[in-house]
Amino acid sequence: MAHPAERVGKRKRAFSCFRVVVVAILAMAVNACEVRPKAGAVSGPVSQWPPEPAHGNRHMIAAAHPLAARAGREILRSGGGVIDAAIAAQMVLTLVEPQSSGIGGGGFMLHYAAESGDISVYDGRETAPKAASPYMFLDGRGEPRAFADVAPGGLSVAVPGLLRLLEMAHKEHGRLPWAKLFEPAIELAEKGFAVSPRLHKLVAGDKHLKSFAPTAAYFFTSEGKPKATGALLVNKPLAEALRLIAAHGADAFYYGPIAKDIVKAVNGAKHNPGGMTVGDLASYEAKKREAVCLFYRVWLACGAPPPSAGGIATLQILGILQRFDLAAIEPGSTEAVHLIAEASRLAFADRDTYIADPDFVPVPAAGMLDPGYLGLRAKEISLTESLGIAAPGMPAVSAGLGPAPDGAAHGLSTTHVSVIDADGNAVSMTTSIETVFGSRLMVRGFLLNNQMTDFSTLPNKDGAPVINRIAAGKRPLSSMAPTLVLDGQGRIVMAVGSPGGPRIIGYVAKTIVAVLDWKLNIQEAINLANFSNRNGVTELERNTPLVALKAKLEKLGHEIRIEPLISGLHGIAVTGEGLTGGADPRRQGVAFGD
Ligand code: GLU
Repeated sequence: MAHPAERVGKRKRAFSCFRVVVVAILAMAVNACEVRPKAGAVSGPVSQWPPEPAHGNRHMIAAAHPLAARAGREILRSGGGVIDAAIAAQMVLTLVEPQSSGIGGGGFMLHYAAESGDISVYDGRETAPKAASPYMFLDGRGEPRAFADVAPGGLSVAVPGLLRLLEMAHKEHGRLPWAKLFEPAIELAEKGFAVSPRLHKLVAGDKHLKSFAPTAAYFFTSEGKPKATGALLVNKPLAEALRLIAAHGADAFYYGPIAKDIVKAVNGAKHNPGGMTVGDLASYEAKKREAVCLFYRVWLACGAPPPSAGGIATLQILGILQRFDLAAIEPGSTEAVHLIAEASRLAFADRDTYIADPDFVPVPAAGMLDPGYLGLRAKEISLTESLGIAAPGMPAVSAGLGPAPDGAAHGLSTTHVSVIDADGNAVSMTTSIETVFGSRLMVRGFLLNNQMTDFSTLPNKDGAPVINRIAAGKRPLSSMAPTLVLDGQGRIVMAVGSPGGPRIIGYVAKTIVAVLDWKLNIQEAINLANFSNRNGVTELERNTPLVALKAKLEKLGHEIRIEPLISGLHGIAVTGEGLTGGADPRRQGVAFGD
């Protein structure tokens, strides 16, 4: 596959000159450094506890739980590459962050190979079972049923894709044996891990967990109380499942007893029984796709293509902002929030109109990322007045697309892992079981996703079929935005991503702008107060200095809402001093480097 810079160049998107960013990894001896945000912080005022970045000059991993990051770092220390570390970390996350991601879900991974400069995207997005229908989430009157009603149970479960994704990436780029990567998770599942304050709080606050027997038995005491912070959670069924998958590969999950148990749990759910078959699991395929890339000033930013909107929308925001001198604007100022929010409105107007599973609908990705088109979109932005609700633009588009509204805004689940190794290879991977605890159905110690609710619950709108409508075998629209940034010479500069549902797009764009334009280190960029606009209200992060901008932004025409905006950004930047890692203090993640 051509180097992404070449592909973009071929499409005449290259700029005439590049200022080469110096990204040499210095060989100076820096002691291993660990940065650990306040353990278990569920949210809170960022300004009260700004953590420092982690430093390393060999390798670095940033992940949502210290046990996962530690497992990944051990793999790097024992000669593993970025894919190996990501797999080991992800298996531990299945255990210790069960509310967010796991082998019962899916995700997207970007891999950068330093030697060739190639970026590969591995799409492990879940698929709709064969029995799925565009009308499955409608009530008797043809109205969409509420999210809280349809998410728990079997109907919302899509065919998981994570293990096929990881297996495909490992076959192409893994260095250590597959089975070895499961050892840390198996050992932890057998010995147990301490319930974090965050996990405890989420279990205590969830209305549906108790309704499903194996899930309730795992998360609650025999008296029906959520297991306490610090209590040891042992997960023997997961250890056993991981042992089978370690020994026999992903096939052990997609065929045989595990697959049968998944089908039994989905179809036998006492609330919302679904219609999955063992054939649905056996026929699941991960897909290797081309990254979507765009030059942002002197850098090349690359993201995941559809069925995630994350890559295109993040790049559209950057491509629009390219026309403005952000470096001259203060981070956290009214101007900065206004400009980025306006660019985001425009990107979401296009996202909601043009993006769905490209294997089912034609997505005009190239037209949406054409710099000329984005330049035109940038002209719609006024510095003195908000656009309000932005209309979709007219990228070079194939006919026959209907609107794709929808996409619930969650944000307590999903996880992101960034890894860079000593050779400059990188992984940026976002994975999810959709909402917090997914479908709440637990099979052999892991939770099944509720990713079917990422489809539009309405099959038609304004008389036209919605492009993100449900269809058998189709992948639901995602917003996951694992991103890699390269310099003008094709070397890795940054790996970053976040949870947050559709807000992921804004979180990631903010962090990239903060590092590239505002020259903040990756941790400062992550700490920087969040804001979000999904082509509606402008949300400002609660308990941050941004709240003080409310009146000024309202004067510009923004409708303002103050929200927790709990991202879970994990990123690594390559600087003149080596690798710097950042973990989101709004969650319990950590960056470990050597
Ligand atoms: N299911 C969402 C997506 O694929 C992610 C959910 C979240 O981040 O909370 O975009």
